[in-house]
Amino acid sequence: MRELGPAHGSPGDAGPAIPDGEAVSDERPREEWRVTHADVIVVGAGPTGLMLAAELCLAGVRPLVLERQPQLRETPKANGFNGQIVELVRYRGLLDRVEAASGRPVGPAPEAPFGGVHLDFSHLADSPLWAVHLPQPRLERLLGERASELGADIRRGHEVVGVSQDDAAVTAGVRGPDGRYRVTTRYLVGCDGPHSAVRDLAGIPFPGTTYPEVNRLGEVTLPGSVTRLGDGDLDVPGLGRLRRGFTRTDRGVFGFGSLTSGALLVQTTEDEPAGAGDDAPMTLTEFQDSIRRVLGADLPLAEVTRLSRYAFQARQAERYRDRRILVAGDAAHQFPATGIGINYGMLDAVNLAWKLAGVVSGWAPAGLLDTYHSERHFAGARALLQTQAQVALRRGQDPAARDLRELFLELLADEQPMRRMAALIAGAGLRYPMPGASQHPLAGAFAPDLTLHTGDGTTSVAELMRPARPILLDLAGRPDLRETARDWQHRVDVHTATTDHRPADALLIRPDAHVAWAAATGEPAAAAGPALREALSSWFGAPRKTAVPLTGRPA
Ligand SMILES: Cc1cc2nc3c(=O)[nH]c(=O)nc-3n(C[C@H](O)[C@H](O)[C@H](O)COP(=O)(O)OP(=O)(O)OC[C@H]3O[C@@H](n4cnc5c(N)ncnc54)[C@H](O)[C@@H]3O)c2cc1C
Repeated sequence: MRELGPAHGSPGDAGPAIPDGEAVSDERPREEWRVTHADVIVVGAGPTGLMLAAELCLAGVRPLVLERQPQLRETPKANGFNGQIVELVRYRGLLDRVEAASGRPVGPAPEAPFGGVHLDFSHLADSPLWAVHLPQPRLERLLGERASELGADIRRGHEVVGVSQDDAAVTAGVRGPDGRYRVTTRYLVGCDGPHSAVRDLAGIPFPGTTYPEVNRLGEVTLPGSVTRLGDGDLDVPGLGRLRRGFTRTDRGVFGFGSLTSGALLVQTTEDEPAGAGDDAPMTLTEFQDSIRRVLGADLPLAEVTRLSRYAFQARQAERYRDRRILVAGDAAHQFPATGIGINYGMLDAVNLAWKLAGVVSGWAPAGLLDTYHSERHFAGARALLQTQAQVALRRGQDPAARDLRELFLELLADEQPMRRMAALIAGAGLRYPMPGASQHPLAGAFAPDLTLHTGDGTTSVAELMRPARPILLDLAGRPDLRETARDWQHRVDVHTATTDHRPADALLIRPDAHVAWAAATGEPAAAAGPALREALSSWFGAPRKTAVPLTGRPA
């Protein structure tokens, strides 16, 4: 077994190594190790790991979540999240809980930073970019409670310190509050953040770039000498008016915004040699010095409750899967812009959970689990494209750089490009490549939330997606298609409904709310039937009447 070096744990606490590739079973414990078994281990209880745990439970697999921190995280990272995951959270019926935890209604983001400029989405009708204001510790509490309610076993204070795998199993060495033990599992998912030990132990390369910008962040209150003006700007003695949002100077960028607590989140960005001071905790003096360098004067501060420093990285795991080990969330990608990490991490989890559950339960068709890498690596690459473009856009204080930003804003004056930018930031409008001949425009896309009229009343796609089961939605009274789907009725729910402005005769929707297949309006049964059968087989396995036990079969 490969183990973490002393840098990841206490010196002298490495304990005995677990032999490489040794298949471990409950019947054959080594004396130093208690051995237990779990179908799936999730390493890390951040937003990605907790979402994955809940989704696995919905898909019928009870995971073991191992989190090294003994308590729920207190230090805030994100102040909220945005993007396509907000819609998915709504599809799971969680929006009420999220709003209750947030204390604010969830809605379209009126603005978003992009490459050092502010995009104003306030005039966009039906904006695809929705935002939730919810500090990360509260999000993690909510997700943790939900995963536990659904049956996940979450163990805090349990750090994974070694991992090995062979053809049959993965073994994780764990350092827990009562000593070390090991767990065998069929699959292990590293949701253990940007410095992922799982990724490193599995030997998955994480290539990319660390940019030379250093961001310093402080949560502060201001003394009476600083006036907060009605429009959110600040009037600072000796400095004058500081506009809400970003202020560029010759030395860098200064920015601030209000928090619900009434405090301000203040940030500076300066170009410095990569990795400068990365490991040392940031001090108040360092923060004040940075503000003085950027603004050319001091900003009086009353109370400072949180200080952090971070650099931007653009990195993506070369593979999201190495046999029985997978990575998701920040362990799989790092983007050089704020505000999108949670969206992409939780969407990784939603994409992976039902596929992994299919493999563990034995019904997954060959290759299903590999589509996790192909789809989410593709999604991550799209996110890298827009966030690296932001690096180029925000770089530089000279007239050429300023003109580039001004021209960029000019190009966004019309509604259509602005809508496109909102969709890009949200990660909406992403279409996964779908197998098969039928290439309906909705195939691969996130299923639209159609209002559905049924014999029992009105419902919606969002309502039907709550249990996270696949559905075949017959929108045109097509008994031929319902008949085809009958062989999968143990796995796929069939619903008949009508909708205004019907986009297709039928939609086959996966548990992650992406459309696996769609029948064009009026598509003849001779074409639609075999295409649906192929889609059902390639996503949801063998039909019942010919089903054979698939346990142990490689995915
Ligand atoms: C200052 C700051 C502001 C941010 N603002 C935003 C924002 O506004 N919006 C947004 O979407 N994103 C934001 N982000 C990014 C966001 O916080 C991350 O994208 C998100 O936390 C990723 O979630 P994750 O679950 O993948 O990883 P993490 O949140 O890093 O969780 C990983 C978990 O794994 C645990 N772990 C690590 N190693 C082990 C081990 N060996 N064994 C067991 N457990 C382990 C860790 O303790 C941790 O709990 C911000 C980040 C920072 C630093």
